[in-house]
Amino acid sequence: MTWPPLRTELQGVEPYGAPQLDVPVCLNVNENPYPPSAAVVADIATSVAQAASTLNRYPDREFTELRSGLAAYLNTSGGTGITADQVWAANGSNEVMLQLLQAFGGPGRTAVSFAPTYSMYPEYARDTNTTWVAGRRHDDFSFDLDHAALLIAEHAPALVLLPSPNNPTGTALEHDVIGKLCELLPESIVVIDEAYGEFRRDGVPSALELLPTYRNLVVTRTMSKAFALAGARLGYLAAAPEICDALRVVRLPYHLSAVTQATAGAALRHADELLASVTELRAERDRTVSWLREQGHTVADSDANFCLFGLFADRHAVWQGLLDRGVLIRETGPAGWLRVSIGTPDEMGAFKDALTETLTAMLTEESL
Ligand SMILES: *Cc1c(COP(=O)(O)O)cnc(C)c1O
Repeated sequence: MTWPPLRTELQGVEPYGAPQLDVPVCLNVNENPYPPSAAVVADIATSVAQAASTLNRYPDREFTELRSGLAAYLNTSGGTGITADQVWAANGSNEVMLQLLQAFGGPGRTAVSFAPTYSMYPEYARDTNTTWVAGRRHDDFSFDLDHAALLIAEHAPALVLLPSPNNPTGTALEHDVIGKLCELLPESIVVIDEAYGEFRRDGVPSALELLPTYRNLVVTRTMSKAFALAGARLGYLAAAPEICDALRVVRLPYHLSAVTQATAGAALRHADELLASVTELRAERDRTVSWLREQGHTVADSDANFCLFGLFADRHAVWQGLLDRGVLIRETGPAGWLRVSIGTPDEMGAFKDALTETLTAMLTEESL
C-alpha cells in the first residue's frame, strides 16, 4: 500500500496546470492582457469593503443579486429573456462543470467530448467516477456529426461537453451541430462551454440563442477571459431552471464567498468598459492569424483570444526557442501545433520577433 492512501486511479497522477513561469511576455493561458482600469479597481474595492463589514455572516447562499446581474448581461450577449433562475455560478466555470458532472455524471454514467478538446474535462470525469470517452473531429477540426452520432449511439452518454469556440483549436460550432446533439440525446445534458464566447467573429452565433428550444442545453461562460477577471474566479451557466436547481444539491454550502459576489457584481456594472478590450483583442487576433499565414504557417480559424498554428516537426524546440527569448506560449493541441494567446500589440510584436528569430536559428543549425 502506498502512502498517503490515494484512490488507485489517482496514484502517480501529476496535478494539472500550465507552467507558471516568471517571463516578460506570458501568452500561454489565454488571459486578457489588459488589467482592470482604476475606475473598475476602485468600484471593486468599495464593494469588497462593504462586503467585509458583514464577513462574520455567511454569504447569500443563492447569490440572488449576482444571478440577476449575470442574466441581464447574457441578454446583451446572445441570450434573450434569460431570467435569474436560469443562471448558476461558481468559482470559475471549472467548478460549474465539476458540479455538472457531480449532478449528472457519476458511477455507471458516461461523459463524452470530441478531441482536440479542453484538457480539464477528463479530470472532472475521473474525479466524479464518470466514464470518459473522447471521440474525434475532422482533420480540419470541424465537427464530424456522423462519427458523433455513432459514438453517442454506442455509449449513450449522460453528458456531452464541448467548448465553442473550442480550446485549443479556436473553432466554433454551428447551430445545426448543437441542435442535432440536443435532439440525439433528449434525456441527457449537452454542455456548450462558451468560455471564449465574447471573442467570436461577427456572424458566428452563440448557443444561448438555442436555450428556448432545448431543455437539455447548458451554456457555460466565465469572467476569466473577456471580463479580464481570471483572478476573481467566477464562472456561470445558463440553462433551464430545473437544471440550476439540481446543482443546488451538489454545491458546497455557501460556495460563492461574499467577496467573490461583491467583486463579480462590481465587474458587471463595468461590463461595457471591461468588454471594450474584447474588440481590441479580436482585431489583434485577426491580425495575428493573417501574419502567421503570411509566414507560411497553417492556422486554425479562430473565434477565440488565441490561435493554434503549426505544423512543426519539433514543436518543443520552437516553444523552447520562444521561451529563451522571453515569450511563453503553450505546447498543446495535436502533434506539431502550438497555441499562442492574444496579448497587447507590443506583446504580439515580441512574439512575432521571437518566432522569426527562433525559426531562422533552427534553419541555420540544420544547414550547418
Ligand atoms: C479558460 C477556460 C475556461 C474557464 O475556466 P475558469 O475556471 O472559468 O477560469 C473554461 N473552459 C475552457 C475551454 C477554457 O479554456
